[in-house]
Amino acid sequence: MSSNEWKPDSWRNKHAAQDVAYPDREHLSKVLSKIRTLPPLVTPSEIERLRHQLSLVQRNEAFLLHAGDCAESFDACTHENISAKIGLILSFSLILIWGARLPIVRIGRIAGQYAKPRSSPTEKIGDGEVPSFRGDNVNGLDPNDRTPNPERLLSAYFHSTTTLNHIRALLTSNFASLNHPRSWSLSHVRSPALRAEFERISEGLGDALGFTRRIGFWQESTPYEKGGGRGALGEVDFYTSHEGLMLEYEEALTRKFPLPESLRSPSSTSTSRSPSPSSRSRTRSGPNVPEAYYNTSAHFLWIGDRTRQLDGAHVEYFRGIRNPIGIKVGPSMKDEELVRLLDIVNPDKESGRVTLITRYGAGKIENVLAGHIAAVQKSGHPVIWICDPMHGNTLTSSSGLKTRNFGTIISELTSCIRIHSENDSRLGGVSLEFTGEFNDEGFSVTECLGGSMELSEEQLGLRYQSFCDPRLNFEQSLDVAFLISNHFKK
Ligand code: PEP
Ligand code: MN
Repeated sequence: MSSNEWKPDSWRNKHAAQDVAYPDREHLSKVLSKIRTLPPLVTPSEIERLRHQLSLVQRNEAFLLHAGDCAESFDACTHENISAKIGLILSFSLILIWGARLPIVRIGRIAGQYAKPRSSPTEKIGDGEVPSFRGDNVNGLDPNDRTPNPERLLSAYFHSTTTLNHIRALLTSNFASLNHPRSWSLSHVRSPALRAEFERISEGLGDALGFTRRIGFWQESTPYEKGGGRGALGEVDFYTSHEGLMLEYEEALTRKFPLPESLRSPSSTSTSRSPSPSSRSRTRSGPNVPEAYYNTSAHFLWIGDRTRQLDGAHVEYFRGIRNPIGIKVGPSMKDEELVRLLDIVNPDKESGRVTLITRYGAGKIENVLAGHIAAVQKSGHPVIWICDPMHGNTLTSSSGLKTRNFGTIISELTSCIRIHSENDSRLGGVSLEFTGEFNDEGFSVTECLGGSMELSEEQLGLRYQSFCDPRLNFEQSLDVAFLISNHFKK
């Protein structure tokens, strides 16, 4: 194999940051062999459809909403939780459609978002030190269950499958019909002002635009599925994503498929060069049919801020898959490093392939973003810029809970919008950690401070449910949606 040849397993020759040390490698191999035989979760045509829609975002013809949990858990895989998450994403996107008058591309952090990178391999619990929790697909939250167990990868596959199955069911059975936005869980919103505003928008949209057509805008526009009439997963388009951290798992779900016919024509610029170095070969479908490797575990995968080393295993894996990808960009990224990374993962400069998810922190964005924008503009790389105002703004409350301040989140978001417009660029979307979960009494979680409900430090402990990063609750999320929506209305 030449040193530059890409294969689903060529990442194994590189150093993988955040690697998990399985004590029983043989057990791991057995589990991976099993996963390799299991069916794909998503299809190449869905993945291509998303690439196409992201190319519209890149050209400012659509807006991207990327949102969901920091980490999913196996226990939270219930009907109530999944429908609350989808409901919140739909509500949020409706508010954005109202303001931006653009179609929204919806990508959930869902149906596979289990693995977590950690800043330290161990953590203090009580008087002792135990291996850190790495996500439900690796080890258990229980401090006595921290040894990595490969069976958890298989369990992650099945929980992802069942989550995706339920999403598909919801989206093909009228749940997303914009004739009933209230059934998405608005009944829980206590603030009369927020409720009234949302209801005004949904009625206005229903009257003025023909709701269902507008949210299903894509039905007319994709070149990948002849006949149209349906979104990627149902009545509306919805896509899944997770951080591509556990490369053994990602490799086992990486499958070779012929490129869709519409992408094979010589006039198609996006395939003027093969999507991966080994993509043109003899196959059962005949000689010289171009093929590509698709990661079939999710439509969209991203590289985390801790695993984006230019010579690392994650970048190596990501450069060969055909899926659209995200790259988390933190304050330590150098301008020229960002361009070199883009050269590696998108050498043909294809629109819709790369989304840069910036997460600097409200105090750092002023020093870094403009330089990143200028470097990327100079390189000619067609990227989508989206703002993650969550991960640079985490703090510890006086009671020791990990939290984020609504005001700081808004501050990074508004700076981001402004800096883009000052630099001849445009914010193409947002990446948020939020949840539509409510408890039995109808109260939402209390993990982030502030917002229109003015959540205080004393209230944080009331319903703090995240076992990873703090999420915006339903009301706080709608506050963010209105803020973005109002901005684009101007
Ligand atoms: C995350 O998105 O949950 C995450 C860990 O982000 P980052 O890689 O930006 O720190
Ligand atoms: Mn997170």
